[in-house]
Amino acid sequence: MSMFKDIPVDVGVIYEGERIRRNDMQVELGGPTVKEKFELAKVKPLDQIDDGKITIIGPDIKDMKEGGVYPLGILVEAAGATLDQGLEGVIERRIHGYLNYIEGFMHLNQRYDIWIRLGKKAFQKGLNSFEPIGKVLYRLFKSELPIIEKVQITFITDPAKIREMYSGALAEYEARDAKARGLKDEEVDKFYGCALCQSFAPSHVCVITPQRYSNCGAISWFDGKASASIDPKGPVFAIDRGELLNAEKGEFSGVNEMAKKRTMGEVNQIWLYTAFDHPHTSCGCFEAVAFYIPEVDGLGVVQRSFKGAAVNGLPFSTLADSAAGGRQIDGFHGMSIEYMRSKKFFAADGGWNRIVWVPKEVKEKVKDFIPAELVDKVATEEDAKNIDELKEFLKAKNHPVVARWAAEEAPAAEATALQVTEEAAGTMMPVATAGTLPIMAGGFKIILKDAKIYANKVIITTVKDSKDKR
Ligand code: SF4
Repeated sequence: MSMFKDIPVDVGVIYEGERIRRNDMQVELGGPTVKEKFELAKVKPLDQIDDGKITIIGPDIKDMKEGGVYPLGILVEAAGATLDQGLEGVIERRIHGYLNYIEGFMHLNQRYDIWIRLGKKAFQKGLNSFEPIGKVLYRLFKSELPIIEKVQITFITDPAKIREMYSGALAEYEARDAKARGLKDEEVDKFYGCALCQSFAPSHVCVITPQRYSNCGAISWFDGKASASIDPKGPVFAIDRGELLNAEKGEFSGVNEMAKKRTMGEVNQIWLYTAFDHPHTSCGCFEAVAFYIPEVDGLGVVQRSFKGAAVNGLPFSTLADSAAGGRQIDGFHGMSIEYMRSKKFFAADGGWNRIVWVPKEVKEKVKDFIPAELVDKVATEEDAKNIDELKEFLKAKNHPVVARWAAEEAPAAEATALQVTEEAAGTMMPVATAGTLPIMAGGFKIILKDAKIYANKVIITTVKDSKDKR
């Protein structure tokens, strides 16, 4: 008998990557409008787990209003003779994968950022309770990770109870991250890769090193190592680091070979410590996105939960779309917050010397890892709301990027002269040059390899502006 006969909807890998639009959703759980939400895995002694028990604290799905948005906490408690706390991050990340196997159920992000939607059709088929959802999780945990001998699952929708548990969950994540700090990339000969997000971003593979957390912020190098050893056929695998090709940029032959193989030639070269040229690919569930601000020659970072527009006038969603889908986009980089605590954080670009704007909430979180002399020089939304204000702020604080402006002025003048000369000679400079330039149009993806695009005129407008004009 199928392990899912008693579940009212289908369950299988084919549903991974399924999107549920607002109009099609029965309910939304967590997401950007809910402040407190979480998912957490805890390893417990065997005698403290009631195997297969599913508990719901607060209203169940059938008690929720159609189209409503509710807070949610998911607690997975597992036990096993050889299971230890070092595996909690691995177990927790599987919640994302397993829940996405459920037809009509969409799970995005991780930890304190979870965003879930249940589709109307799945609800009408009878998926109206956390009970069957818990059963699916329970059965997949037991069958996919045999190291788990017992597991109990709790869904919390009662806001007071979520509030009570939320800060504890944040402390657990921090303790886990802190444990993973200290080891350096050059001290290991294996990195780890994760292909879990390929269902959403086919050419994306996370490269997880001691000093570069996964994009989602849920898998450290230690988690990668543990995951690859307990589930060698799973989405997390070891990467032989290979030869160090470029220490500054963070290029390793083993990483390049892995990327080529796992993306079927789409991505051939990855530089781990930079946002430029060959940056790490971005999936869709990164915690934050770094974006280049050409006017100040610096990088801004904005996190998923940030409300409103970043300093360049674009909200997180637009900036995230610019990078997402498994692409390598020059100057854009999906990443974890934990990466900002790493000594390799955009090290090739100048590290914190190149970071000019970060929302206050994130700055507070990573403050202890910003070099002391730079803390007051990195602007937040309170210091600068647009590029003009940012320029003034950086100048007033003498941020290190200001020295770059003067250095760049002379070559810029030369470039103008060169352009005039070339135009006079009847040639044109390319307006876009890229090794790989993906264009999304009408449901197709067109990839131009080694492209140079020439144009008489280039008009750049925001999507909003173009819509307004129509
Ligand atoms: S963001 Fe990376 S590490 Fe996290 S689940 Fe996706 S592929 Fe895996």
